Amino acid sequence: MNNEKKDTEYEISNYYREIAYKLKAKYKESIGHVNLDKVVFLENLTKSPAYKFACTKKASKEERVFNENKTKFYIIFYKKNMDGLTDNQKAMVCYHELMHIDFDNENIVRHDVEDFNFLLKKYGINYLEENLDIL
Ligand SMILES: [Zn+2]
Repeated sequence: MNNEKKDTEYEISNYYREIAYKLKAKYKESIGHVNLDKVVFLENLTKSPAYKFACTKKASKEERVFNENKTKFYIIFYKKNMDGLTDNQKAMVCYHELMHIDFDNENIVRHDVEDFNFLLKKYGINYLEENLDIL
């Protein structure tokens, strides 16, 4: 049936793996702990979800057993969305995704900021602490 399409939905990405090694060497404080040998970098060639460039997923317990713990995380880049970005922006997305891997290389770290883009852009990330005169 649709097997051909399914088979080509994902591709292993050496492009993002190489970027990840460069980022890891440069930003030791934030992502130096990430064991890149246990991360599979994939490009999704078909999907283009709104406002989403990439995502990081933990390998399931079953997968970990099956592959003898060789793979712990998948970072998936949505090619159709990534294609519109510059090389620097692509690297920034990759950096962001690597930040999702916790210190023990076991779990996903959730975002520590949730806010409105408009407010963050206009007033900066610490706007609540700055006691701004907005009235
Ligand atoms: Zn994220």
